[in-house]
Amino acid sequence: MGQMSAYLRRILMPAVFILLLISTRIHSYLLFHSLAELFSIFIAIAIFLLSWNARRFISNNYILFLGIAFLFIGIIDTLHTLAYKGMNIFAGFDTNLPTQLWIIGRYIFVFSLLIAPIFIKRKMKKLFVIHAYVFVTAILLLSVFVFRIFPVSYIEGMGLTLFKKLSEYIISVLLIVVLFIHFRNKGKFDQKVFKLLVFSIVTSILSELSFTLYVDVYGIFNLAGHILKLFAYFGFYKAIIEIGLSNPYNLLFFELKEKQKQMVILEKRKDEFISIASHELKTPVTTIKAFAEILQNYTKKNKDIYAESLLGKMNSQINRLVLLVGDLLDVQTIESGKMRFTVTPFDLSEMVKEVVDNFKLIKNTNHQIYFRGGSKLIINGDRFRVSQVVSNLINNAIKYSPNKDKILVTVKREKGQVRVEVQDFGIGIAKNMQDRIFDKFVQAHNRPDQGRLSSLGLGLFISSEIVQRHRGRIGCISDPGKGSTFHFSLPLKI
Ligand code: ADP
Repeated sequence: MGQMSAYLRRILMPAVFILLLISTRIHSYLLFHSLAELFSIFIAIAIFLLSWNARRFISNNYILFLGIAFLFIGIIDTLHTLAYKGMNIFAGFDTNLPTQLWIIGRYIFVFSLLIAPIFIKRKMKKLFVIHAYVFVTAILLLSVFVFRIFPVSYIEGMGLTLFKKLSEYIISVLLIVVLFIHFRNKGKFDQKVFKLLVFSIVTSILSELSFTLYVDVYGIFNLAGHILKLFAYFGFYKAIIEIGLSNPYNLLFFELKEKQKQMVILEKRKDEFISIASHELKTPVTTIKAFAEILQNYTKKNKDIYAESLLGKMNSQINRLVLLVGDLLDVQTIESGKMRFTVTPFDLSEMVKEVVDNFKLIKNTNHQIYFRGGSKLIINGDRFRVSQVVSNLINNAIKYSPNKDKILVTVKREKGQVRVEVQDFGIGIAKNMQDRIFDKFVQAHNRPDQGRLSSLGLGLFISSEIVQRHRGRIGCISDPGKGSTFHFSLPLKI
């Protein structure tokens, strides 16, 4: 049923319409001509009205430009129809007049199509365009009606002049150029719109060619030319109106779709960039770190205090860089779904103690870190990744609490789980931020920037990912101004 009605709409009805139109030719050519022209004028005006009214929604000025052009083409077509032989409206003019008007209409049409693609992605001064059209149309009409200097196009008894024939060829060639230009801009149009535009340009060329063939204004080629012109206009109408307005996603929001596509591409590029950058950075940064440490030891031995302090500062900056690069790399592996764990059973309590000792020994911090934990709390997991979580929580406790402050690290057994807590007495976290800090790039404070540790808002995101992948839970309890307790639990090995 649907197919049938589409068939009716697409083929049968237009065919019947064209046949009826042609059959009016039996009555008189004048009737056929008037009706055919009337329809194209009607379509031209419709193109103008709709593109003009939709001008605020359409950012592609190509359509508005064509709309304005069609208004003037419609006006010329009207005059051409009224001047047609047998209408007896313009006294003192013969068949030369409608032929001249016809040629003017065609020239305006083809030049408009040549110019329109300029405005596909560019701003357009609407008033200027309208004034330009008024000016050009007025000059041409004056040259026909008043000054009578427009080249003679038809001589009664002799037929078409060289000027008229040549003009039709020139217009055909220009239309081929138009076709070429449109193909070069293919990517800027919606596919359907583009097809309709090509259809219209091609039928315009055919229409033009059939006009070059006709001898008699009543002849078959003139008839074919008019029908083809009607098709061409209708194609523009379909392109601009049907798809442009009734199917807005194709054209009105075409730009939006394009932007979305670009966004997706940009996102991908960003990910690729982060991945490459962090991989590329890792090697030189770790190498520099190793060298800086060697140098620092060397200067220590040689008691060069100034060089030693410089190297100390350098080292802390390098450490910061190492952490940043590591975090970026981790986020990248998480996001691409490539984070792999090497699972082995290990004593979590012992591991946490090791991390704490490490902080005390190697990362010369001024904080007093206390460890409380039972022994033999075995879990199954990735030792390195879980220790990363503990380090991160202790790091944060150091970062967000005053120097020399106390930090309590506890490991305990709780309902078949092992719970690790890191408690500090620092600045704490506002209630509304407590859930959000586990998201990527979220920071609850202005950066405390002590110049020692990484600060990108990634640590908790990575930690929570690691804990979740170990089937555990992570959270925080915090009193702003009084301190925070970060905790995570992992299932005990059975
Ligand atoms: P970063 O520390 O690099 O900013 P994190 O993901 O580790 O990133 O932490 C996110 C945010 O959570 C921090 O910016 C900070 O505002 C807040 N935060 C984390 N740990 C603590 C803490 N112990 N005390 C107060 N705020 C914290």
